[in-house]
Amino acid sequence: MSVTAAAPTSGKPLVIANIGMLVSGILGAPLLDGDTLVVQDGIITGIGMAGDLQIPDGVAVIDAGGATVMPGMADNHVHPVFGDFTPRQKTVDFIESCLHGGVTTMYSAGEPHLPGRPTTPAGVKALALLAHLSFDNARPSGVKVHAGAVLLEPGLVEQDFEDLAQAGCRLVGEIGISGVKDPTEAAQMTRWAQARQMKVMVHTGGASIPGSGVIGADFVIEVQPDVAGHVNGGPTSLGIDDVVAILERTDARIEIVHNGNITMLGRIVDLARERNELHRVVAGTDCPAGSGVQPLGMLRVIASAASLGLIDGPTAVALATGNVADLHSDANGRLAIGAEADLLIVDAPLGSQAKTAMEALEIGDTLALAFAIIDGVIVVSKSRNTPPPMRSITFTAAR
Ligand SMILES: [Zn+2]
Repeated sequence: MSVTAAAPTSGKPLVIANIGMLVSGILGAPLLDGDTLVVQDGIITGIGMAGDLQIPDGVAVIDAGGATVMPGMADNHVHPVFGDFTPRQKTVDFIESCLHGGVTTMYSAGEPHLPGRPTTPAGVKALALLAHLSFDNARPSGVKVHAGAVLLEPGLVEQDFEDLAQAGCRLVGEIGISGVKDPTEAAQMTRWAQARQMKVMVHTGGASIPGSGVIGADFVIEVQPDVAGHVNGGPTSLGIDDVVAILERTDARIEIVHNGNITMLGRIVDLARERNELHRVVAGTDCPAGSGVQPLGMLRVIASAASLGLIDGPTAVALATGNVADLHSDANGRLAIGAEADLLIVDAPLGSQAKTAMEALEIGDTLALAFAIIDGVIVVSKSRNTPPPMRSITFTAAR
C-alpha cells in the first residue's frame, strides 16, 4: 500500500503549456480561454495565453500537446474503512486505482464495511472520529479522503454531533443503511448535524445490503438532507416521479452514481437539464459495493451523463468537480485562480472515434488520463487503468 503523509504540497512551480482545451468544472462557464496554466505552492496562480502570463525561469513544464486540462474529480460517494484497503471486496490499493481513473478527492458516505462495525452511539461516534483522523494523517497516494461520516444509531444526542463537528467530522453517513430507520428521528439528528455545517446524505431507492431499507421521496422530504444519495440506484433506482418530488420539495442535491441504474442516470441528468437544475446534481461511484470497485467509475459516470443525459462534456465534468466542491465548500474542483491545484490532463483515448476528450465523453467513451496532479504535485504521469491518450504529452523537469 502506498500511503503518503498529509498535504504533500510542493513549493516548486509547474507550468502546463500547449493546452488544447481548459475545462473549468464550473457550470455556466465550463470552458476557459487560454493555452497555459501556472501552479505555485499547490494552488493555481495563472490561467491564460502563454504570452500574457508571468512564467518563472527554470520551471518544470508539462507540454500538453493540445490535450485537455480539467479539475481532478471528487467522488461524492465512497465507503472507505482505513487506509487503502476495503474489506467489502477484499481489495488493496483501490483508492490508488481510482486516482489512476482521475479521482483526486473522495467523500465518505459512511464506513459500514468495518468488520464488526459498532452499532452503539459511543461506537459509531468512535468509528467516525477514528476514520476521520486516520485519513487526515495518511492520504493514500495523495488522494484527499474526507472520511468519518457518522452512521446514525438510536441514542445519539445533540452533544455527539457537537463533539464530532468540533473534531472536524463534516459528514453524516447515508441514512437508511444503519439503525435509524424512523424519519422523525432521522430528521431530528439531521437538524443537529446541519446546525454544525455537517452534510447529511439519505440513501434512496432499493435496499443495497442486508439491513438497509427501501427509501422513496417521502422519507427524503421529511428528513430534508443535503444530498439524496444515488437517486439512480444503489443499486435499484427511484422512479422519475420520486426524483421530481425531491427536486420540488427539498433543497437537496441529487446524486448520480456508477453503482446504479445507468439508463436512469441518463434520464435523471436529462430531467435536471430540462428543469435547469443541473447545479443540484453531484456525481459519485458508491464504491466499494456489491458491484465491486471501479477504478474508472467516475470517468464512466461523466461519460454516461454526457452521452445518455444529452449534456455537453464540459457540463458533465462540472457534475463531478465544481458541483461536489460547492456542496462541501471546498477549494478544489475548479480551474480558478487561488483554487487548489488538483488537476487532470486528459485526452480522447487512442482508438476513439472522438478527436478530443470532451467529444469522447459525448459519445460515451471514457477518457485517457495522462497526468494527475494534487496540490501541485504530479501523482500520476501515466495511468495504469485508462487507455493511452491520442496526443503526445511530455514532462520536462525544472532546469
Ligand atoms: Zn446507499
